[in-house]
Amino acid sequence: MRIAVYPGSFDPVTLGHLDIIIRASRLFDKLYVAVLSNSNKRERYFSWHERVEMLQEATADLPKVHCESFQGLAVEYARSRKAQAIVRGLRAVSDFEYELKLAEANRHLAPEIETVFLMTSHQYSFISSSIVREVAQLGGNIDGWVPRNVAERIAQKYGPRREE
Ligand code: ADP
Repeated sequence: MRIAVYPGSFDPVTLGHLDIIIRASRLFDKLYVAVLSNSNKRERYFSWHERVEMLQEATADLPKVHCESFQGLAVEYARSRKAQAIVRGLRAVSDFEYELKLAEANRHLAPEIETVFLMTSHQYSFISSSIVREVAQLGGNIDGWVPRNVAERIAQKYGPRREE
């Protein structure tokens, strides 16, 4: 059985992430998607619980996909799920340097686990969770960037979109 994990912050999950999830789920028998809690890179907007819930709702029609949270290293998560691969998405060149370092570090920690990169689909290449949060906070339209359930949660959190 081919098993992969797709770890990330997913704060919140976007259509770019969902596209990677759908495409990766075609390559593997099982795909575990996890909100990892080891990253303190930035202030979190949605709680762990909310982020996992949004992922679960957005992937409810994908039987091979399981969404959860995990505290610890991505490689430990992969091992705990008996995964052969860690999936990551690549957008611009700017992602490459960071992802290369991460993949090298993970290879050092767990040589038996391969990192598999999927290139973004071009229509999602500019979408990131941080852009979604910024635009939503300023009242911009984020329809088409996030799954419907996420747009609804954001509207609840920030209030209805302001029209100029
Ligand atoms: P992290 O904080 O671990 O980078 P993110 O939730 O921001 O977590 O992203 C998880 C993974 O998804 C990363 O590999 C990132 O490059 C990838 N990703 C994010 N947005 C997109 C997108 N629009 N298209 C393709 N991959 C993406």
